Amino acid sequence: MTERTLPPSLQEIASCVNGYDPSSLPVAQAREFIARLVPRVRAVEMLALRAALGRVLARDIVSAIAVPAHDNSAMDGYALRGSDLAADADTLLQVAGSGFAGQAELASALPCECVRIMTGALMPAGLDTVVPQEFVKRDGGRVCVPAGVVRAGDNRRLAGEDLACGEVALAAGRVLRPADLGLLASLGQAEVPVWRRLRVAFFSTGDELRSIGEALPAGCVYDSNRYTLWGMLARLDVELIDLGVVRDDPVALEAAFRAAARDADAVITSGGVSVGEADHTKAVMAKLGDVLFWRIAMRPGRPMAIGRIETEGRSAILFGLPGNPVAVMVTFYALVRDALLAMSGAVAQALPMLRAASSEAIHKKPGRTEYQRGIVTRAGGSDWQVRITGSQGSGILRSMSEANGLVVLHHAQGNVAAGELVDVLPFDALI
Ligand code: AMP
Ligand code: MG
Repeated sequence: MTERTLPPSLQEIASCVNGYDPSSLPVAQAREFIARLVPRVRAVEMLALRAALGRVLARDIVSAIAVPAHDNSAMDGYALRGSDLAADADTLLQVAGSGFAGQAELASALPCECVRIMTGALMPAGLDTVVPQEFVKRDGGRVCVPAGVVRAGDNRRLAGEDLACGEVALAAGRVLRPADLGLLASLGQAEVPVWRRLRVAFFSTGDELRSIGEALPAGCVYDSNRYTLWGMLARLDVELIDLGVVRDDPVALEAAFRAAARDADAVITSGGVSVGEADHTKAVMAKLGDVLFWRIAMRPGRPMAIGRIETEGRSAILFGLPGNPVAVMVTFYALVRDALLAMSGAVAQALPMLRAASSEAIHKKPGRTEYQRGIVTRAGGSDWQVRITGSQGSGILRSMSEANGLVVLHHAQGNVAAGELVDVLPFDALI
């Protein structure tokens, strides 16, 4: 028996997805299919800590030290023995010395003695409690701790309470955030292993498209999709290969797809995938790889091409998005974003949704997922409210620009009554 090295064919993937129907594919099934299709990057690079912000950790980071390394004080005050505290009366203690943060030499204290201590200073041997300075009365070399202001063990940070030695501080697959850089710095880690950046090529197709700077003859529109796509991709910290506007010409299209498959891990196109489209995009896609043309049960964004484009023994995952500007953004967020994160090696994280009361009734047919552009507000500190932005036409990009979230009306959901709670995906969670 020979060992299998080829990735699964699209037919094999389809047979694993329950209820797969390419002519009316629910969003959940499309996501499952894509998750099975996409490979992960394999190459690892070492980066200086700050350069790793937003990148995906490639290996578990195990703490080689305890953080903090020693018990220390959480307050400015006096370190004492909890067992010296009187149960119901003031406690008088002699001040035996002092301890400052960064000092390795420890003052020691006998029973009924205490040590003046600053935040972060090591706890002297035998002392287990810190009373904050504002609670005590100091009288020369003595302090009086009033009854009840502190309990044994209070205000002491324990060695290893942030990270124990040998503990996994951060797991592989994590997209590194500011707190993670700080955590890694607290371990003394100067460099971190991350997956190499995913390379994503993208281009727009359509004879009516003009680039910024060109004249705009009647019947033409400026290409906006390459700008929204660029913006969404830039936020994912992938390497971008902008292949421009490609004319609806088989030679030009084939050259663009081959360039993408040669250099990129994924290629995202917009336009030319509608059912009944008379242009050449679909034919060239089908010629260069293993590609399926779906009709997804969603709105906006029904048509989509998915598969692999191959050239010179390399292949890139193809996401052929519809051309309408809002459909491009919605299909990207609903179907492409998580796939690119998975390809980048990131462990999936569900996006946080808000539950907001719809300010008006919304017409919705069960049997498809709808993404409506909404403006969420929290008037007067009360619960979240959402209002749909004017026209929901899939060509009206202004509705996307005005919105601060997508109202997600799920597959099985029907009409929404005014005041009913709906799910909203806030753009701040996405971008
Ligand atoms: P298509 O999916 O190619 O049929 O395009 C659907 C609609 O989206 C048409 O009105 C196109 O003019 C428009 N469109 C396609 N690509 C772009 C683009 N890159 N920028 C702006 N509009 C586009
Ligand atoms: Mg077109």
